Parts: sequence; structure tokens; C-alpha cells
Amino acid sequence: MSNADIVVVGAGAAGLFAAIHAARGAPHARVVAIDSAKSLGAKILVAGGGRCNVTHREVSEGDYCGSSSPLIRRVLRQYCVAETIAFFAQHGVALKEESTGKLFPTTDKARTVLDALLSAAASSGVTIQNPCRVESIVRPKDDAHSFEVCTASGPLTAKRVIVATGGMSLPKSGSDGSGYALAKALGHSMTPMVVPALVPLTLPDGHWLRTLSGLALDARVQVVPPASQRTKVAEGPVLCTHFGLSGPAILDISRHWVFAHEADSSSTLRVNWLPRFTPESLDEQLLASRGQSLLAAMRGLLPDRFLRELCAQTGVDPSCGVQQIPRTARVAFVRAATTCEVPISGTRGFTAAETTAGGIPLHEVDQATMESLRCSGLHLCGEVLDVDGRIGGFSFQWAWSSAFVAGTAAAAALTARA
Ligand SMILES: Cc1cc2nc3c(=O)[nH]c(=O)nc-3n(C[C@H](O)[C@H](O)[C@H](O)COP(=O)(O)OP(=O)(O)OC[C@H]3O[C@@H](n4cnc5c(N)ncnc54)[C@H](O)[C@@H]3O)c2cc1C
Repeated sequence: MSNADIVVVGAGAAGLFAAIHAARGAPHARVVAIDSAKSLGAKILVAGGGRCNVTHREVSEGDYCGSSSPLIRRVLRQYCVAETIAFFAQHGVALKEESTGKLFPTTDKARTVLDALLSAAASSGVTIQNPCRVESIVRPKDDAHSFEVCTASGPLTAKRVIVATGGMSLPKSGSDGSGYALAKALGHSMTPMVVPALVPLTLPDGHWLRTLSGLALDARVQVVPPASQRTKVAEGPVLCTHFGLSGPAILDISRHWVFAHEADSSSTLRVNWLPRFTPESLDEQLLASRGQSLLAAMRGLLPDRFLRELCAQTGVDPSCGVQQIPRTARVAFVRAATTCEVPISGTRGFTAAETTAGGIPLHEVDQATMESLRCSGLHLCGEVLDVDGRIGGFSFQWAWSSAFVAGTAAAAALTARA
């Protein structure tokens, strides 16, 4: 059986980062990162449309859902955005900020980010073993201070183990949820629900929005009824597709819809296609447009194709003068434009999800070290934990922060014992 001091299970964003900081913190230790994927970093390479949105200008616990905010804050504070920027700069990756606050490599190539992580891992002395799937992690009966990590290529002993196996999003990348079973076998629990998040939503066959595939509008979306007090309104681009709805606002609201739908299967999405208007202010504006047709009165507010379809749905003739439209039809149109109830039928599932909502509760680790409170010597970081960020680089910042804490703490514990 070969020996390692620290084994990191999973070499995605969190695993590589944890391994780098573990190796730096304990330079004489043997740090081995094991990943089941044939080629590493699949998710980093597809992130941000191939440009990798590494982090965001401003990150706080309010940008995340799942575990409680104070616990998330404790982790984020230990490795903040400035440190992420400095790390990548030290490894030759300058980041640029876009108007949305998202930070990307100046090369606009995710490959730059992955190469920097792999080269930092190599220069820190991390050994990467892949493709190699970890089947189980067990505590030998006669040794309460080590682990046996069983892999498809044979067992390894380790003094410390960091689980960074991700969630279940994009399973073909290697993140198939097997990390949950590894952690559960060592005493951890799971949230009652583990569901796709940052995921496109589907509409029933024949729904009129599906016929507008390709159209993007700025809108405000909200789950009705709210899933919880933490349910947020999302605002931004909404993209109509052949299956339903996508775009940043939909991805952000998706996890809230999933939780609301679980609690009440009649949950819908309320969309304001004109977020600058309330039903009252739109109605006032229409009534003020004396002599104009509805089409003319709405010009510039909505794309023509969308407006015509909205009129068809509410039985309004767009060429009809606003004053001639019966009040009930005008009210129906205003409602459809500003408080449109959209009957979501489901999500596109984990294969199309950017992240996972649910996982191992954060209160089962000590946030100062990311060490398990159920199994000493075991650390957890990244998406395997019950923390999911909104769109904009927040998922990666969670990976960097939690992995930094796990890696440095594992190294410190090792050197303290030596
Ligand atoms: C299409 C897409 C685009 C995204 N874009 C962005 C973005 O621009 N910005 C952002 O912040 N976030 C983005 N995300 C989310 C982000 O990629 C993830 O949150 C992040 O990669 C999670 O990192 P992780 O290391 O925890 O998990 P993962 O990246 O999932 O890595 C886990 C690793 O563990 C390995 N593994 C799992 N089980 C085992 C096992 N039993 N044995 C051995 N190895 C195992 C897997 O092969 C995998 O390599 C995107 C996600 C997707 C799917």
C-alpha cells in the first residue's frame, strides 16, 4: 500500500486549490490529489462560456444560499476576492473586471486558469493521480489517526483527507455525487434535497414562450409563492428557448423555483417583462398615449415579435387604438406584460446545471479549518458542501475560499503532529 500524508479526493477547482495550499503549508509532506476524470478541469474549461468567470468584484454571504449565512461568511472572510486576484496574478493570470462585476482572465480563455492551477500544483510538489476513482475512505480499526483511501488502482494510506468531489452538476465531468457517499460513510449527513441549481427551466409543450426561441429580454422574475423568506427576486436577461427559459435571471431564480415546487407543486414563476413598470404605471402610460395604436404606444419597450405574441395571448389587436381596446382586454395585456404567471414544468436537470443546491451541511465542519466535526482528520471543501452561489463567479470564489482554508489547515495539523 502506498503512503501519502494528505490525499485530496477530486482535482477540480476546489481540489487543486486545496492541494496547492496543503503542499505549500507542509512542504515536506506527500500531497496526492486523485481524480476520476481522464482529463482534468472540465468544469473550469467550460465555465463562463469558455472564458471562466473566476470571481466577482464583491462577494459576500448574501450571494449564497444553502447553509446559514454566518457560517458561509466565516469561510469567505478567510480568503477573499483580493487574495484570489493576487493568487492568479502571481501565477501569470491577470484578471479583468467587466461592467457586471464579473472577473475573467484577460486572455478570455479558461485554459489559462486551468494551466495556472496545474502548474502551481506541480511546482508546489502535488502529485496528481488520474484517471483514478476513489471508491471508499475508511478508518483502519487499529489506527484512529489515519485513513485508507481505496481507489480503482489500489489503496493508499493518508494522515489527512480532503474531500473536494464537487456536487452533481455536469456529471460527465466526473462530479457524479459519489463524494456524498464517501462523506456519509464517515458519519456525515446530507440535506434532505440535493437538486440542480443555476439551471434552465422548462415550459409545457406548446407554451407560447417556446415559440419565441432565441429572443432575449431584460426582465424581473420571482417565484410564486415564495419558497422561503430568503427567496429573492432575480433581474436580468431572460432567454426564450425551444424548451423553455434560460439566461442569467432564470438561472439565478431556478433553485428557488425547485424548492418552492417541492413544497407546493402549483408554484409558478411571475415575470415582469417590463421591469421599469408596475401594472399601474404601464396602464397609465398606455392611457396617456391618446390616439395611438397599442403597437405604437409600446414601441421600443418590447421586441415586436414578443409584443405581437403577448397581444395574441390576451386577445388584443395590436393595431387597435389604445382607447378602443375594452378595459378588460387592456388590463389582461398589462398583467401579461408585468405580472405574467409562467407555468414552469421542471428543470433541464443536472446535465445542464451549473451547480448543485444541497449537499453536506456546513455546520458539520469547523469553518476555521473545514475539518469535519464528525470525523477528525477529514476536511471538506467546494461544491460538495451545502453552499450554492448566484451567477457571476460566486461558485468559484466559494471553491477558492473553502479550499484554501481546508488545505492550509490540513497542512498545519500535519506539521503540528510531526
Ligand atoms: C457549464 C458550467 C459553467 C460554469 N461557469 C462558472 C463560472 O463561470 N463561474 C463560477 O464561479 N462557477 C461556474 N460554474 C460552477 C463551478 O464550475 C463549480 O461550482 C466548481 O467547479 C466547483 O468546484 P469543485 O472543485 O467543488 O467541484 P468540481 O469542479 O465538480 O470538481 C470535482 C472533481 O472531483 C472529481 N471526483 C468526483 N468524485 C470522485 C471520486 N469518487 N473519485 C475521484 N474523483 C472524483 C471529479 O472528477 C471532479 O474533477 C460552472 C459550472 C458549469 C457546469
